[in-house]
Amino acid sequence: MPATLECYRCPLRYDDAAPRWRCDCGAPLRLETARLFPAEGLDRRPRSPWRYHEALGIGDPKAAVTLGEGFTPLIEHTIASWRVLLKLDYLSPTGSFKDRGSAVLLAKLGEWGITSIVEDSSGNAGASIAAYAARAGIAADVYVPAAASPGKLGQIAMYGAKLHRISGTREETTAAAMKAASRSFYASHNWSPHFVAGLKTLAYEIAEQLGWRSPDWVLTPVGGGSLVLGLHQGFADLFHWGFVDRVPRIAAVQAAACAPLYEAWRSEHEDVAEVEKRPTAAEGIAIARPIRGREILQAIRASRGIVRTVEEEAIWDATRKLARAGVYVEPTAAAAAAAAAALAKDGTVRLTERGVIILTGDGLKASAAITAHFFGRKP
Ligand SMILES: *Cc1c(COP(=O)(O)O)cnc(C)c1O
Ligand SMILES: [Zn+2]
Repeated sequence: MPATLECYRCPLRYDDAAPRWRCDCGAPLRLETARLFPAEGLDRRPRSPWRYHEALGIGDPKAAVTLGEGFTPLIEHTIASWRVLLKLDYLSPTGSFKDRGSAVLLAKLGEWGITSIVEDSSGNAGASIAAYAARAGIAADVYVPAAASPGKLGQIAMYGAKLHRISGTREETTAAAMKAASRSFYASHNWSPHFVAGLKTLAYEIAEQLGWRSPDWVLTPVGGGSLVLGLHQGFADLFHWGFVDRVPRIAAVQAAACAPLYEAWRSEHEDVAEVEKRPTAAEGIAIARPIRGREILQAIRASRGIVRTVEEEAIWDATRKLARAGVYVEPTAAAAAAAAAALAKDGTVRLTERGVIILTGDGLKASAAITAHFFGRKP
């Protein structure tokens, strides 16, 4: 299956047959495949993201690296009188939607014959990449800030990844990882075009679950942006190949405490400037300056979407309300539900419109913080 890696910011493009994680000009890359999966016979393929393998740039579907990710439930729920659908993508092997991206990235690394990788993340991406690296038999070195909470690091270490604690800021951690990657391969989820390709399956799956229709809105938290980019690319693929009649509007949600994309969107800038970040319960999206900021904004604008911020109290309130309906997610995921309530109340969305909320991370990942917030130290 011929696939190319195309630069977002210059005319360069590369054959996907050789390992590469960014353009020679220093910019991020996008994966382009020659065709999409066939509509005919799709329902006889396995219920897994790998049924869309032609669109993922993986030559042989037998080379799939899988832990049973994907085909997560889509259930009804009402938020501020708006009847929405919740996409329970926190029901993934490592507890976050990132498994879709890791599965495809690790399959590609296997195709390339890569045996050791470097990643930097103290959270869900680190755990997800570590798990799929273990599954693929690839050695992973994960760089984390020394100040990262021990609970998060346990999962990464249990999968067998080697942890490197770097004192200093999140940015210094990235710099250390990139330096180490000169002797290995930098498999960063914030750069990898294959990681984004894996997230396109979220769009494919939602459309298929809706009988090959697009919702009017997709609401999702946004941090590094692989989720927004994957959703937009996935729905754009479906529209281009005639599977759906339109691309949904993306409502991308940030915590008010760390909202670089919101600042750029509000002031109509093309580029995203770094912001001062304040503490937030939505730690999965607390990214002061996303690498693909410009591309994330382009995707949101192309979808006629919006960027919204939510305050800490609204995030906690949404976390509690979802849990009271049996849906236990981490505050980062609940941020999207908090925005749904605000958008329904202020009339940005009409109550007759169909909205899908991506629930990205399991509440069990943040049990300590959730328990401390609602019950004090002891529940
Ligand atoms: C990583 C993460 C996000 C943000 O995803 P991006 O692709 O970085 O924008 C949202 N929610 C959770 C739970 C995450 O782990
Ligand atoms: Zn370039």
